[in-house]
Amino acid sequence: MKAEILAVGTEILLGDIINTNAQYIAKRLADLGVSVYHQSVVGDNPERLLEAYNLAFSRADLVIATGGLGPTKDDLTKEVAFEYFKKQSVVHEPSLQSIEKYYKDTNRQMTESVKKQAYFPVDAVILPNNNGTAPGCIIDEDRNIVALLPGPPWEMKPMFEESVVPYLKKFQQGVLVSKVLRVIGVGESKAASILEDIMDNQTNPTVAPYAKEGEVTFRITAKANTQEEGTRLIVPMEKEIRRRLGSNIYGEGNITLEHVLGEMLVNKKLTIATAESCTGGMVAARLINYPGISSAFVEGAVTYCNEAKVKRLGVKQETLDKYGAVSSEVAGEMAEGIAKAAGTNIGISTTGIAGPDGGSEDKPVGLVYVGLYINGKVKTEMLKLVGDRQKIRERATMQLLDLLRRELL
Ligand code: ATP
Repeated sequence: MKAEILAVGTEILLGDIINTNAQYIAKRLADLGVSVYHQSVVGDNPERLLEAYNLAFSRADLVIATGGLGPTKDDLTKEVAFEYFKKQSVVHEPSLQSIEKYYKDTNRQMTESVKKQAYFPVDAVILPNNNGTAPGCIIDEDRNIVALLPGPPWEMKPMFEESVVPYLKKFQQGVLVSKVLRVIGVGESKAASILEDIMDNQTNPTVAPYAKEGEVTFRITAKANTQEEGTRLIVPMEKEIRRRLGSNIYGEGNITLEHVLGEMLVNKKLTIATAESCTGGMVAARLINYPGISSAFVEGAVTYCNEAKVKRLGVKQETLDKYGAVSSEVAGEMAEGIAKAAGTNIGISTTGIAGPDGGSEDKPVGLVYVGLYINGKVKTEMLKLVGDRQKIRERATMQLLDLLRRELL
């Protein structure tokens, strides 16, 4: 089955909003083994929308459109789709009732125009909207299938998962089973070169890399007749990838680095405190993303100026004078200082030049030192990072968390 994703909305064309719906649907269709050869965006204009449906169905069997299901005159996605399929629409009573209930429950006055959201052809499959008013629908006309979904992502995603995915499963031959391995500490090209021969010769299962901020993920996907067979096919491939990438693989599926690290800290009954300069609290925030962190995380200090590093962390003035704030020595004293002040087993620190100004030949923008103090021992690492201020701070955060993970392995 070939699919096309059609995002409807002038806001997207103008760049006012990002087309995250297309990204989400594309990824999910790939998981389901549905090929997407085209994605398009069209404004709220009936002629161009009709043209978009014509073009989409000239090259795809399934068109998934999002947006434009609302009550206003420029919400035309449904009406133009009905025109394309030459279908009349009538009021769908259960939808009308649930829209009326939604307005009553949220204490709002329902206007007449809202009723248009309950109009569908009699043979359409109605997709209930549990997070808003506009129901979606699927029309299947001789295997030309259109799925019309609302624009707001918090309405679209649940509708896609609850109604579209089960509908599409009917057309699936066999199952696709996939597993994601998350890699940190080696860039995408290095990781891909380590797996080059595997990726060049892949058939079933396949291996696909995705680079994300500061990390790389590898998705292993097997086509099989049953879930069990798919899982079995993945095992030797996963084993080989794990053999080659070793401890660079920090987790599986949707797990995050802070989750993995948080579990390690809690399981090992370790306590931690953070002292941050250039990352300004990002390291603490990442750790606190992990919901179970309260038994390990004690405190975090953002010590941006030199006096704060001296006063709060006990960094020596002479160390600052001799080596400068961005130095391995200061990073080490910061990590040790916060651990001692907080009475924790572990202290971690960052000090660096995030830019855009403040760099010199000796200490260029992107130079960051991270410090680690664990049970009496200090370790520091020099990082040379690229990117803008935000990226440098994010990358320093990820690398420090990864350094600690490796220490705890
Ligand atoms: P409503 O019933 O709320 O009017 P709708 O189905 O008519 O929804 P639109 O009016 O097209 O949807 O869009 C509503 C909002 O949904 C947009 O302002 C935007 O925030 C979000 N949205 C729409 N399309 C997309 C998209 N492709 N990607 C991400 N967000 C989107």
